[in-house]
Amino acid sequence: SEHAPYRGRFAPSPTGPLHLGSLATAVGSYLDARIHQGQWLVRIEDIDPQRCKPEWTQRILHSLAVHGLVSDEPPVLQTTRTPAYQRALNALSHAGLTYPCACTRQDIEAANASRGFGENRIYPGTCAQGMPKGKTARSIRFRCPKATIEWQDHRLGQFIDLLSQTSGDFVLLRGDGAWAYHLAVVVDDAASEVTHIVRGDDLADTTARQLALFDALQKPRPAYWHLPVILAVDGQKLSKQTGAKALDDNTPVDNLNAVWKHFGFDALRAKTPAQWRELAAENWAVYRAKTAHQTNY
Ligand code: GLU
Repeated sequence: SEHAPYRGRFAPSPTGPLHLGSLATAVGSYLDARIHQGQWLVRIEDIDPQRCKPEWTQRILHSLAVHGLVSDEPPVLQTTRTPAYQRALNALSHAGLTYPCACTRQDIEAANASRGFGENRIYPGTCAQGMPKGKTARSIRFRCPKATIEWQDHRLGQFIDLLSQTSGDFVLLRGDGAWAYHLAVVVDDAASEVTHIVRGDDLADTTARQLALFDALQKPRPAYWHLPVILAVDGQKLSKQTGAKALDDNTPVDNLNAVWKHFGFDALRAKTPAQWRELAAENWAVYRAKTAHQTNY
């Protein structure tokens, strides 16, 4: 309900060590939970077996602890959550909201090309009324709603998304047997009773798909605040993929101050991460208010 106690989370993927960009998201979500007297949870999104490694999980948790960021509950690992994803998939299937899909990437490209449609991230709906004769299922897709998904981001304001024009029916269970990211995120946020999602704005465009799943699973929608992501000098998103530097765990206060500068603040004179956190928390409500979306008519 709208009066549920604040529960926030940080959900890193263990595909590499923490870098400045992921620390910014961790700090933002932590401080926001803190000023709301809420809980802050860490979830390890190790869902993709090809890209995630247990040693990165250990390294990330260690690095967070060095920066004074410790989950209020034992961290949840997505690799332990398969039964919950299966139950959610079953519930969606019982509600008639899924279908098996035989399409390969090439099939999707060909179908989109024949419609004069260049956007291959959108599923053209080939299998929505049944797979072509003689084909076998590769993946399971979600029948996305026909109505627009409307939502409000704390900083970015109102979004009105029509999923049929941005993603089409998206995959829940992949051909290789792996659970798709959107299903895992939503099932986990719902199970953890997360009320507020504070994350990087590179994920803003994924929100409508996730909200469609919250709605379909009849779970309450969380509130969203997409923070500006830290960009590399060349304007690229700072990420493990673009080779962002791992945080130096020997200089936590300097790292926290680098994040603070990104949020537009002067460095805090703290000796320890614990001191830093106290000082930062005093400023976070100001940052929250300052970044609130202004509607101009
Ligand atoms: N695991 C995702 C990432 O590291 C974040 C997912 C989320 O915050 O919803 O980019």
